[in-house]
Formats: sequence, C-alpha cells, structure tokens
Amino acid sequence: MGDENRDKQLGMDRPIGRRDFLNGVAIVVGSTMAPGLLPGFEWMTEDAAIFPQDRPGYYPPTLTGMRGSHDGAFESAHAARDGNLSSAAGSAIETGEIYDLIVVGGGISGLAAAYFHYKKNPSARILILDNHDDFGGHAKRNEFHVNGHMLLANGGTVSIESPFPYSAQARGLLSDLGIEPAKFEKKYDDSRVYKSLKSAYFFDKETFGTDRLVVGGPAPFGRQGSVSWPEFLGKTPLSEEAQKDIARLQEAKVDYLPGLSSDEKKDKLSRMSYKDFLLKFVKVHPAVLPFYQARPHGLFGVGIDAVSALDCWGLRFPGFQGMNLSPDPYRRMGFTAMGEATPEKEPYHFHFPDGNASIARLLVRALIPDAATGNTAEGIVTAEFDYTKLDSKDSSVRIRLSSTAVRVRHLGEPTSAKEVEVSYAREKKVYNVRANAAVLACWNMMIPYLCPELPNAQKEALRYGAKVPLVYSVVAVRNWKAFDKLGIQRVSSPGMYHTGVGLDQAVSIGDYKCSQTPEEPILLRMTRTPCMPGLSERDQHRAGRGELLTTSFETFERNIRDQLSRILSAGGFDPARDIAAITVNRWPHGYAYEYNPLWDPDWPEGQRPCDIARARFGRIAVANSDAAAAAYTDQAIDQAYRAVHELA
Ligand SMILES: Cc1cc2nc3c(=O)[nH]c(=O)nc-3n(C[C@H](O)[C@H](O)[C@H](O)COP(=O)(O)OP(=O)(O)OC[C@H]3O[C@@H](n4cnc5c(N)ncnc54)[C@H](O)[C@@H]3O)c2cc1C
Repeated sequence: MGDENRDKQLGMDRPIGRRDFLNGVAIVVGSTMAPGLLPGFEWMTEDAAIFPQDRPGYYPPTLTGMRGSHDGAFESAHAARDGNLSSAAGSAIETGEIYDLIVVGGGISGLAAAYFHYKKNPSARILILDNHDDFGGHAKRNEFHVNGHMLLANGGTVSIESPFPYSAQARGLLSDLGIEPAKFEKKYDDSRVYKSLKSAYFFDKETFGTDRLVVGGPAPFGRQGSVSWPEFLGKTPLSEEAQKDIARLQEAKVDYLPGLSSDEKKDKLSRMSYKDFLLKFVKVHPAVLPFYQARPHGLFGVGIDAVSALDCWGLRFPGFQGMNLSPDPYRRMGFTAMGEATPEKEPYHFHFPDGNASIARLLVRALIPDAATGNTAEGIVTAEFDYTKLDSKDSSVRIRLSSTAVRVRHLGEPTSAKEVEVSYAREKKVYNVRANAAVLACWNMMIPYLCPELPNAQKEALRYGAKVPLVYSVVAVRNWKAFDKLGIQRVSSPGMYHTGVGLDQAVSIGDYKCSQTPEEPILLRMTRTPCMPGLSERDQHRAGRGELLTTSFETFERNIRDQLSRILSAGGFDPARDIAAITVNRWPHGYAYEYNPLWDPDWPEGQRPCDIARARFGRIAVANSDAAAAAYTDQAIDQAYRAVHELA
C-alpha cells in the first residue's frame, strides 16, 4: 500500500487538534513566519498589551498536540544559553516590582518553596516565574472532553510514590494539602472496571520477524502471571534458543557468582550492566536481549545496556532468584525498590487522575485561594481554575507564566547585597524584578547561564547531570471495545516506537469518574524513551533530547496511529474512526539525572555534584529535584524546604 493510502487508512487526514497553540494563539503547523520577528522568536505573539494568561478563558490543560516542552517554552532559555540575550538583559524594562522572594520555576519544587516561605511569613510577597504556559513543571494536567466526558491524564509526574518513605516535611506538606496517599489509594482505586482484562505482549515484525499479539502470560517484574513461562513463550515468535534461555533465566535457581558473600556479589553486580550479566554470567543467547532491552526504560530512560545488574535485581528482574542476595538495599544502588518494603513504613503509591498535577493545583490554591474553587484534596480534581487570578496585583503571591528567567544577580557583592535582581524574557521583551532573595527551583543545568557569578566548581557541578528525555503520549479514544474484545488492558511492545500502551489507570475521586464501560471514551497511555544503546547513560540522554526536539508532531502521530492499528485491529480498532485527540507530552529535560554506578565515580559523602551544586550563594538558594539527583516529588519538596530554610 502506498504511503498516502496508508496515511488515509490511519486517519492522518482526520480533524483532530494538530495545531500548536502558543501562548493562547493558534499557529498552524507549516504556516509561514510572521514578518519582522527575530529568528528563533517566531512563536511570540505581536500584542503583549494583555498577556495571554490574563485573558479570560485562558486554560492550558485542554490544549492538545505537542505539549510538555511545547513550542514557545524553551526558545528564550536556549537563547540565554547561547549568549543571545545578554544585551537584552542589560537594557531590560524595569517593572518596579519588589518581592520578598522570587522563585524561578513553577514545578512542585518551586510551588513548595513558595508554600514553605508563605507558611512562615503569611504577608510575604512572592513571585513565581515559569517558562511554560501552565504551572506544575513536569506535574502537568492533560484535560480532554470527549462526547460529554471529562478525561484526565498526567502529562508528566504520575504518582505519589517513592522508593523511600516521604520525609516529615514532604509528608507534612501533603497533609497540609489534605492528601492522605495510603487512604486515597484504597478508597479511590476503580480498577475493578478492567478486572477481567489481562496484560499482553506485542511482538513487532521489525524486531521479532512478525507482528503478533500474545494475550496473558507471566506478568513482568516477577509477579505471578496466569500461564507458565514455557506455555507463554511457545505462543511468541521468539526462536527456540531464545525461548529456552528465557525460561531458564526466569525459572532456574542458579548462583551465577558462587563463592562470594552477598555484599561482594552486590558490589560486582553494581559494576556490570544487566545486559552483560545476561550474556556473560547467565550466558543467554543474544536473541533473548530484545525481549528485555526496554524493560527499565520507564524508570531509567535507558535500556538494559546502561542499567546496572544490581538495580535490575532491585526491580525484580529475573536471574537473581538463586543468588542468595540479602533483601536490604546496597550503597551503590540507584533508586530502585528492593529493600524498601518493611511493615513499619507506610507505602505510597497514589495516582490522582491528572497525576501530581493535583498536588501542583492544591499548592496554587493554597497560595492564591481566589484562583480555584473548592477546599478539599478530592475536589481539586474537578475544581475550576481562573488563570487570570494567578498574576493579579491584588494577590501577595503571583505566578507569572511564559516567563523565562535569563539572569539572576545580586545588586552588589553577594556577601553583602540586600537585594537580587531577576531578569526574565516574556513575549518579545526582557523585564527586571527585584527581591530580598531568590530560590532557583529550575533545572540545574540552566543555573550557570542565569548566574555566571557563581564559583566555577559550583557551575561545573550544576552542569554534571543530563536530564532524562521521555515522552508520555496520551490518546483519547471514543471507546475501548477493542481492548474489551481482545481481553487486554496493557500491552508491552518492547520493539516499537512507544514501548507500551495501556488503558488509563482507573481512579474515581470526588466528582470525577473514570471510564466505566467499554462503550465510553477513555485515554490510552503510551510511553517512548529515546535512547541510543552503546553510549554512556548521559550521552544517551543528550542524543535522545536531540531526537525529541527535532521530531515533528506528525511523526509522533503517524507512529501512534500505526502502532495502535497493528496492536488492536484484530479487536475492531480503526485509528481513523476511533481516535478523538492526541497529546504528545514531550520532555527533552525529564527526570533528574540519578547517578549510575556503571559510569559515575563513587564520590565520598557530601561530594556528589548535586551536593556541591546546591550550595547557597548569598541571597540565592537552589531547589528542584536535580538538587537531590533524584526524580521524585518528595525530593523536589525536600529540596524546596532546605532552600527556603537556608535563606531564612
Ligand atoms: C514524564 C515524567 C514522569 C514522572 N513521574 C514521576 C512519578 O510518578 N513520581 C514522582 O515522584 N516523580 C515523577 N517524576 C519526576 C518529577 O520530575 C518530580 O516528581 C517533580 O515533579 C519535579 O519537580 P521540580 O519542581 O523539581 O522540577 P520540574 O517539574 O521540572 O519544574 C521546574 C520548572 O522550572 C522551569 N524552569 C527551568 N528553567 C527556567 C527558567 N530559566 N525560568 C523559568 N522557569 C524555568 C521548568 O521549565 C519547570 O517548569 C516524573 C518526571 C517526568 C518528566
């Protein structure tokens, strides 16, 4: 079939939201650039008399198409990185605004920093600046309306969960906001609606020689499945050798490092990749690898070539069942789960329908009560937000969106200055605001460009991590009859563009009800992690970021439609008919980089780059999850607490 016919069959000509909405202004993809705008700033609107967020009806969660790091969010930061805004910052417009605290970054960390400061000083004047058109950072809300149903998804940060228990400060903040994760998890879980549907694997022809959906089977991550490994493997297109070795890897109890103590084994496992463990110690056939390659993508953003065998043990990957490893965590482990669960620790794993965007919304409501309706944590899910109240001069706390900080400096010597000045780019102009102090709750690698006056060692440490690029695509479909007919709810597709697709997590809370029957619309969740096996983890992230920033929405859309059609068409799914909307949440700068024992040195306590990077500098403190080198909400909150208290 020709490309055009295939595109038509996939529905590439169907009228879904395919335009990029920039600062409230719709720009048709492919349209010519408006004349007279600076190169690289085509996205900016001409009329900045009233900023988009101050216009009635401004509500970014319902925007579809390319979201996450959307067009318009990153150009000023890149221009600052390239030194193209230094003269503009030098002749910035003085707003005359003076605050007690300016927070750069409106993610969970920035909002939490504002909250901690506000809690101690309720009359404080605080300004939060964020480069995106919505608040929340990674904790973004995607809101769809299909056939009269409101459907919510997390554009990034998924759940309240952590391999380690939340600290008193992070837990205390959740309590202040009315969130009881363990109670909510039990009370609002609605997964009974898909109870009868199984997990499945899809083997694609490009990787495994033929397209084949295998329904049911041994569940990933060591959980008990409904069929035995040999029975499951017999239905797959994997070669006989691969089948035999996978069954052995999964089931045989072998000590692959005999003669060593548990700690010696753990140390050795921390210094080899899981891929090497499989090939050199378990001695599997290389045809086994594609079955496991993408399994750590969701947590690490790289495959088994770049994740240590020890961390894969922590994730309950197979091969360690005969190795007598003691269940406690080990010093050189990353943020993996093994050793976490003890009876006295309350486990957290609660997912609001829009993920941790609900935490961001609760924080915003606590800081600016006029901006949202309601007063409970449950009610935040359907609360109405009035964005025109976010940056009101009548409010002591203000959130200014689409505003990228491009310079942060002391007015005077850092040791004795009484004020800091923050310059930010918004629309086509640069503005100055002043404050007693600033918290940089933005991304570490941006800070050296903002504050060139920082000591060189600190700047080097700030640049060390490479944030993990990843994509959460969300597809609104008119019904889930195909899933019901095939008897599946989640499909692992390890060789495909998106390595997994599944029905949205079923949670009903407050007035929000998730999809209840196969005839109702629902959201499908798909994840993609661009990486490049063969490179170090940080280089893979850099290469993946490049890929994300140069891939068009059209390419994502075509891949999404093709993938759903190949997996689901036997259930009657028609991508042209059944897809109502697509949002691609692109995060070129996603998870905070967590140190990887395969490449990173074994720094002494307190000497990791993140420890050096987060040092207070005069009246400027550093928050955000990069400051902990840990991609978790509790860490973002803890770092906010530390930063605010360092400035006190
Ligand atoms: C796809 C995805 C899924 C995740 N899932 C989970 C999960 O399930 N559970 C969990 O605990 N964690 C998860 N995380 C990790 C998540 O990063 C943290 O939980 C938390 O949301 C990070 O908050 P933060 O404020 O530190 O950073 P961010 O959310 O990144 O916020 C920082 C903000 O600062 C802005 N900024 C940067 N530079 C500037 C500048 N110069 N001027 C103005 N603003 C600037 C950024 O654009 C951003 O909006 C996930 C992350 C991603 C990307």
